[in-house]
Amino acid sequence: MTVRDVIVVGAGPAGAAVAARLHQHGVRDVLVLERYRHPREKPCGGGLTGHADEALAALDLKLDVPHLASPTARVRFGSFVRTVRLGRPVNVIRRDEFDASLVAQVRARGVEIVEDEGVTRLAVEADRVVVETSRGRTLAARVVVGADGAASVVRKHLTGNAKALPHRLFKAELPVADGAAVDDAMLYDFTPMLRGVRGYLWVFPVHDRRVNVGIMHYPSTRVGGPKLIEHLGAGLAEVGVTLPARAAHGWPVWGYHPRAPVSAPRLVTVGDAAGIDGLTGEGIAVAMEQAQVTGDAVARALATGDVAFAGYRRALRRAVVGRELALDRWLARLLYQRGDGWRRWMSLVLFDPDVLEMYAARVAGSEVLADQKLRLYGALARHLWRARGRGRALRDAAGGLPAGSPTALLSATEPDRSAS
Ligand SMILES: Cc1cc2nc3c(=O)[nH]c(=O)nc-3n(C[C@H](O)[C@H](O)[C@H](O)COP(=O)(O)OP(=O)(O)OC[C@H]3O[C@@H](n4cnc5c(N)ncnc54)[C@H](O)[C@@H]3O)c2cc1C
Repeated sequence: MTVRDVIVVGAGPAGAAVAARLHQHGVRDVLVLERYRHPREKPCGGGLTGHADEALAALDLKLDVPHLASPTARVRFGSFVRTVRLGRPVNVIRRDEFDASLVAQVRARGVEIVEDEGVTRLAVEADRVVVETSRGRTLAARVVVGADGAASVVRKHLTGNAKALPHRLFKAELPVADGAAVDDAMLYDFTPMLRGVRGYLWVFPVHDRRVNVGIMHYPSTRVGGPKLIEHLGAGLAEVGVTLPARAAHGWPVWGYHPRAPVSAPRLVTVGDAAGIDGLTGEGIAVAMEQAQVTGDAVARALATGDVAFAGYRRALRRAVVGRELALDRWLARLLYQRGDGWRRWMSLVLFDPDVLEMYAARVAGSEVLADQKLRLYGALARHLWRARGRGRALRDAAGGLPAGSPTALLSATEPDRSAS
């Protein structure tokens, strides 16, 4: 049996980016296996946040699909709405188009990408990893990269399928009514926290006069899929959007944990297979940033013959992306805690003059939040002084709707009849 240097499982952003990085290192014997055929659907908000621009540039990849550059974020909680200018625009893309474009760009470099062939099983042997596929083939590689998303077979191999509650995200795409103005702001609405959701609802503008809407729930409390769709519908109705029946589709995903296993001898995971951002549920930029660490580690392993990947988890954690993920995990545990404790942290996020700005800069990728610890401590100190007044302001905001509609776009959105 031929033993390839590398098999990459999955051709989403993580898999395409790892293949691109390996190509930059001159690693040529790479096979990427994708169980579907691009363009394939992927439930996603499509916000290219964080350091996506730098990640694409570092990988010699281009954003060459239609996208809408959103220059502002609007944060809502009840009657409180604040518009924050982003340090640089967040590009909202459609995942089927974006992922297909990445795959085409990587394939154009000569990388072998086989679609409609998924990995069904893998076994690590002394000198190789043996992989079985949905087409009945048995393949082997010196190293296997698990870039196979939230339901990763490689992750399951590493964790022994340990049970943990997933984050849940649901999304739908809706058209904007004919003749209505299209608002280019991204709405992050935390009002559903009042109804037991631990997360936020989003409305992102997409090109083609459509909006991408969805809800994210952090698993500190158990809320089922149908209930979350109900919360999404109710929350959207408040801002003037009707969610058609059966329009929202969801996905369980697992949050990044700095101590969760991400590698074993001859195996590494990356992207959603290694865990998403616990605070925001985002992961496209994360996947492409991590992929550089992964590609570097795999190229080094092939060159030195040391395929233990003993330092891989540490390398992921130490990279900028790892530091941001660890900080967001900590923030998520405060902000999305069960019971009433979240209120104290929500009032800090909403009412401190600095915190929303800092987070907006982090979302836009113009700042590394993990490098802003002094400013965060400053905000915390201010909060201790002002906690009581802010608590009152939060209670007041919880009582009502914003004056007028948060965006012109939202009041002008109508249901997608084709989707219902
Ligand atoms: C509703 C929702 C909204 C989101 N919104 C945003 C957002 O606005 N911004 C953001 O940055 N992130 C967002 N995310 C997260 C983002 O979608 C993921 O973090 C991102 O897709 C991770 O990329 P990936 O390549 O690791 O995984 P994926 O994109 O899931 O790609 C994995 C690939 O592997 C393939 N695969 C799976 N199993 C196998 C197998 N056994 N064999 C072969 N191939 C396999 C899959 O078909 C897929 O193509 C959202 C997620 C959800 C669910």
